Amino acid sequence: MKIKELHIYQHDLPVENGPYTMANAEVWSLKTTLVKMVADNGLVGWGETCPVGPTYAESHALGALAALSEMAPKLVGTEINPLALRRAMDGLLNGHRYAKAAIDIAAYDLMGKATGLRVADLLGGAMTENVPSYYASGVGTPDDIARLAGEKSAEGYPRMQIKVGGRPVEIDIEVIHKVWETVGLKMRLAVDGNRGWTTRDVLRVSRECAEIPFIMEQPCNTIEEIGAIRAQVGHAIYLDENTVDLNTVLRAVGDGICDGFGMKVTRIGGLHAMATFRDICEARSMPHTCDDSWGGDIIAAACTHIGATVQPRLLEGVWLAQPYIKGHYDPVNGIKIKDGHIALPKGPGLGVVPDETQFGASAASF
Ligand SMILES: [Mg+2]
Repeated sequence: MKIKELHIYQHDLPVENGPYTMANAEVWSLKTTLVKMVADNGLVGWGETCPVGPTYAESHALGALAALSEMAPKLVGTEINPLALRRAMDGLLNGHRYAKAAIDIAAYDLMGKATGLRVADLLGGAMTENVPSYYASGVGTPDDIARLAGEKSAEGYPRMQIKVGGRPVEIDIEVIHKVWETVGLKMRLAVDGNRGWTTRDVLRVSRECAEIPFIMEQPCNTIEEIGAIRAQVGHAIYLDENTVDLNTVLRAVGDGICDGFGMKVTRIGGLHAMATFRDICEARSMPHTCDDSWGGDIIAAACTHIGATVQPRLLEGVWLAQPYIKGHYDPVNGIKIKDGHIALPKGPGLGVVPDETQFGASAASF
């Protein structure tokens, strides 16, 4: 089965009740990039990549379109096999894993459709049909975030991620205390600085919240900053934004810089690389998430399929942008969070079929 056509679409995803706030960004609408891969047997697969604005990671929407347009003409005629495709893409363009991920996801969708298997089965097999999610708050006031935590706990979310940073650290400390007083052990807690804290802030937070069990996600901007204070911090530390590729993951695991990861399917290069990441983590008993920074039903399905294959004790959940997005690409089988969990799509492939009329004319076709 070979690639016959590639079509690239860009589509706006406005933030419901926006903006969504992080330490270094406030986003109102995200431009997502979709890939429609048509095989020589007529089957169709879909991929997607959606950076959450231009400052969250080293990726942006126009870059995705440019990178895909650079590679696509030479990918037509290539065998639809994620490993072969990854090597072909690396031979055409250095880096830009977030763009390559859209091709990788589309290839898995197509292989699933060709074989009748779900993507989770292609990735090794599902451990669960009901994948745990987690709720991520924006950066907010202590009262608002504590109230939200109470609501999400009641909804059935097993985990809550509190966004912090970009303001005096005293407020962040108050948020953590208020959330803990509200939900206690009913939810696992993560505190995500999105690179926004200084090492000074981290030391103070860990000291002033010493009795509260939470993990700190990507508190500082660089691995070096985190490494410098790691031994003085009483809380587990996860890396997110810094783990841009498998080499960095190996370094972080090998050097003991972190205790787990927030991982994004597109940042690491797609589902094939994500399965390798999953297995590295399992070899060292490192918990991690399987998410993406943003995106619609295609990304949501991809994250859910890989999340379903993770050893349950190591899965920190699959975060979806779905609660912040109006509507679905697939009006029937769109991916939804219910009671804090996501039903694994039935497949074949990703198990979602977008109504492509929503996307308008393609931005590029090959
Ligand atoms: Mg994060």
